Amino acid sequence: MKSTYDLLVIGGGPGGAYAAKTAAEKGLSVLMVEKRPAPGAPVRCAEGVGKELLREFMKPDERWVAAEIERAHLIAPDGFSMELNPAKAGSEVGYVLNRKVFDRELVWQAAAAGSDIMVKTRACSPVMENGAVKGALLEYNGTVTEVKADLTIAADGVESKFARWCGINTTVPLREMETCAQYLMTGIDIDPHATEFFTGNEVAPGGYVWIFPKGEKTANVGIGIGGDRGGKPGIRPKDYLDRFVQKHFPDGKIIELIAGGVSICRPLECTVADGLMIVGDAARVSDPITGGGIYAALYTGKSAAEVGADAVAKGDVSKKNLMKYDQDWRASYLGKALDRNYQIKEVFVKLNDDDLNAIIHSVSKMDMTEFNTLSLVKNIITANPMVALKLGKAGLKSLIDSI
Ligand SMILES: Cc1cc2nc3c(=O)[nH]c(=O)nc-3n(C[C@H](O)[C@H](O)[C@H](O)COP(=O)(O)OP(=O)(O)OC[C@H]3O[C@@H](n4cnc5c(N)ncnc54)[C@H](O)[C@@H]3O)c2cc1C
Repeated sequence: MKSTYDLLVIGGGPGGAYAAKTAAEKGLSVLMVEKRPAPGAPVRCAEGVGKELLREFMKPDERWVAAEIERAHLIAPDGFSMELNPAKAGSEVGYVLNRKVFDRELVWQAAAAGSDIMVKTRACSPVMENGAVKGALLEYNGTVTEVKADLTIAADGVESKFARWCGINTTVPLREMETCAQYLMTGIDIDPHATEFFTGNEVAPGGYVWIFPKGEKTANVGIGIGGDRGGKPGIRPKDYLDRFVQKHFPDGKIIELIAGGVSICRPLECTVADGLMIVGDAARVSDPITGGGIYAALYTGKSAAEVGADAVAKGDVSKKNLMKYDQDWRASYLGKALDRNYQIKEVFVKLNDDDLNAIIHSVSKMDMTEFNTLSLVKNIITANPMVALKLGKAGLKSLIDSI
């Protein structure tokens, strides 16, 4: 490890690793630090990602694709199951990854591109000069070392502290922090090519239960519930998950348990500052409906590194010059999807189980190849006038605005 770099990346998840790789390929001297001893472990993810989205960044590899998903089932609170498949949805479905291998592969690629990597190394404070970020204090094995960098990328995930230490408001409202628990289960009877999503206040208030297959008879079985819904014994995510597992997979074997949080809020108001860029979960760019953030982390990591490399080359890492990154990702498919899905999520969290049943039943009859938010709104108004009334003008307007 040197004492100065062009770029310091904090966090070795998908966002940080892809940023380090991209910047190193552009000729920057890069150091990526990861506080855990091994990137990707323990896994705090259900590991699902859209096929087309992933292929923007990587060629799928059997070493880290655990399962190919061909269809998804959305299960209403009353037990009714609606199937989404490529023929109905007009697009491919997805993969379930093996993130222990996937995350490591990304870090491997960053190293191969020339980035220095330090594991078990924690950024504990930014180095600030005249209000600009100029690197960080890094703690390794009980020793703290200062590393200076022209530019720093905060890719420190959902528990991100670095941007806050630099004076940026990164608070997530409690109701918009899903709390999650997940088992890796084996010996369970599942369709190995279908993901399942169970909805309803009995099952997962303010969230859903997922089953993401990882091969024959093995799956991630997890739950996310609204951050303001649990907390007390009996209504914590693990309590709901245990009840679900007892009902659906009483003979299954639990071989791993993880807990974690997912933000379903709006992205940070601004994802750059003087000498600093923020990517992935740290920038709050995970999907407000699904909580998925692998694609967004890869996208923002790459985009930040490209804009950042240009800024370093020009010797101008001011907020003004880095704003191109913030503007670009907001104008992209990702930014638009986050905006639309946030508005849809805000409407849907207000629905009770009867409303959800009514919507899922009627949506299942829609032609999914022509599915869009406008057709969804029309469907809700015509098939579920009571639900439409409940959403009110404001709710329907949010949906229409999100088109
Ligand atoms: C239960 C659960 C299920 C999920 N399921 C899915 C899913 O199916 N699909 C999907 O797309 N997304 C899913 N997600 C979200 C997904 O895991 C994240 O969006 C994704 O990992 C974000 O990547 P990232 O690089 O931004 O952050 P992370 O992957 O969290 O990486 C951040 C890294 O920074 C490190 N770090 C933190 N602080 C410091 C520091 N001070 N110094 C050094 N290193 C630091 C951390 O150790 C971590 O390795 C899920 C999340 C949870 C909790």
